[in-house]
Amino acid sequence: MSLLQKLFNILLPPRCLKCGKILSARNGLCAECFNKIHFISAPMCYCCGRPFKDTVGVKFAAKQLCGKCLQKKKHLFIMQRSAFVYDDESKDLILDLKFRDKTANAETLANMLYAAGTDIWAQKPDMLIPVPIHRLRLIKRRYNQSAELAKYLSRKTQIPTDFDSLTRCRNTIPQVELSGRARRNNLKQAFTVKLPQNIKGKQVVLIDDVSTTGSTLNECAKALHKAGAAEIYALTLARTEI
Ligand SMILES: [Zn+2]
Ligand SMILES: [Zn+2]
Repeated sequence: MSLLQKLFNILLPPRCLKCGKILSARNGLCAECFNKIHFISAPMCYCCGRPFKDTVGVKFAAKQLCGKCLQKKKHLFIMQRSAFVYDDESKDLILDLKFRDKTANAETLANMLYAAGTDIWAQKPDMLIPVPIHRLRLIKRRYNQSAELAKYLSRKTQIPTDFDSLTRCRNTIPQVELSGRARRNNLKQAFTVKLPQNIKGKQVVLIDDVSTTGSTLNECAKALHKAGAAEIYALTLARTEI
């Protein structure tokens, strides 16, 4: 460790993102908090990324699909992955980043996204696209949490991020305030691709902080398909449905 790094660690010691306990290295979470987060790991559906239950003694194929994905004829996404389950233990990680200005956490959280996206990186996608927020909300909040994640992820993967092509053209009601059907209607035509020439024929990875019903990601994917995207992947920090 360089002298400068030592000094930096004394002045600003690394802390656990969740409980604030001082850590010996900048690795994000203390062991106790780490163990409480429900990280999603294999075996899981190769397409939707839902972990399989009752896996004892079961042999899975390399690219095994779940029952739901096997039945579907058309898939909006080639693959979806999430780092952990959104629950009482993990929600502060999301809320701190989204509403409490803790953008400094984005780098560590992007490392979790990176680990969760291994199968996606193997496909050599062309670009990352963060789910956009409406410009009025951007003015109020000053940053887009998904763009913060994409920025760090881009450094780690060397895959460029496109911040401009996909835009949110309607300022919708926050999804958390609505239920299933209202959520889907709320988002209809909320996204548009402003620069389709950047998207046509490309393999795109959509980046978001949390996926609840998946409606936001689905609407983004529809807009990207319309603009001629070749393949779409989705990567989120957390998901509520498993
Ligand atoms: Zn902790
Ligand atoms: Zn599936």
